[in-house]
Amino acid sequence: MFYSDHDMAIRCCRTPDGRRTVAVWALYYDTFKKIPNKGWLPPITPTPPPYEICTFKAKGRGMVATRDIGFGEIVINERPVLMIPFRMPRFNPLNPWRDMEELPLQMLYQLEQEDRKKVVRLHNCKSLDNYGPLGGIFMTNALSFLVADSRVCKEYAAICLTISNINHACLPNASYESDAETVVFTIRAKRNIAKGEEITLAYIQDEGLSTAERQDLLQRKYSFKCSCELCSAGAVSDERRKFIRTTVQSIDSMFDKWNELGLDRAARTNEAKRLSKTVEELLQAMDEEGLHTGRKISIELCIAMYAILGDTKSFRKWINRALDSEAMKGRDASLETVKKLDGMLDDPSSYLLWDSLDAGLPERTSTNNIRV
Ligand SMILES: [Zn+2]
Repeated sequence: MFYSDHDMAIRCCRTPDGRRTVAVWALYYDTFKKIPNKGWLPPITPTPPPYEICTFKAKGRGMVATRDIGFGEIVINERPVLMIPFRMPRFNPLNPWRDMEELPLQMLYQLEQEDRKKVVRLHNCKSLDNYGPLGGIFMTNALSFLVADSRVCKEYAAICLTISNINHACLPNASYESDAETVVFTIRAKRNIAKGEEITLAYIQDEGLSTAERQDLLQRKYSFKCSCELCSAGAVSDERRKFIRTTVQSIDSMFDKWNELGLDRAARTNEAKRLSKTVEELLQAMDEEGLHTGRKISIELCIAMYAILGDTKSFRKWINRALDSEAMKGRDASLETVKKLDGMLDDPSSYLLWDSLDAGLPERTSTNNIRV
């Protein structure tokens, strides 16, 4: 019996024949009523799997590619076996995880024995003094499952038997997404992955943190010292990140200064060359660091400069760079942007400021006018 949307209940999912429990989820009422109580078939996933779970000497279990996996390809689709709300406000705020031990434990015992064993075998980086054994397993392995349309709880902590074995890298080669309709996680290649390479995910949101800041955060949250490729690059990586940060911050003023060159075509052409070289270096650094905030506006700056100069060849080159960037987004690419860019590739003069230098620029050409 539910009294309000804030009430929580356990959804125990079974196979269509009712013989086997496949998942146990603690859900708030508004999500609970949307997720049907039906027979659950396993999600369709690449067969044979393009990965295996291996044990590494230094860091325990992890996932390794058993064949080449292409950019954008699905590595695995998997349904979480256990899921609880990410935050449960009714528990003691000083130590919610200890109080929470009881609920996951009840849920765990509803799973089949073999699945239960697999959950208990997952790594636990937390000390038993501060967290119960299951709370620790959740804190170490849970992925964030998003329910965007819930008014009560938009984020759940989910444990998967296979995906939860994937290790962290600060510049991972895979990403994950969750589908609230099918209750399935999808792991997708963020770039080409070679056979034998470890498949990795980012455990933390990296908004341009330095190596030391990132390692400190990982140590606190997951108790390990990250030795990924990016962390090994240490000072070189920090330097590149600084260059990305300062360059992105100065994009607007770079364009303003270029505009101040007025009608001097030669000076504008030279400066456009210099600035587009800086943007080339910026994009290279962004690729190396996996940080892409500011990518779009930097490319738009180059597009705008060459449009104003009426330089068809360079304009098209940068339109193509913008198209490549859209392609990098995979499923998140905007069809509308691609259409717009394709249109400008066909007909550069459709760009608002095309060849406008000699005509005299509009009073104020700000970066707001150059957004594609
Ligand atoms: Zn790292």
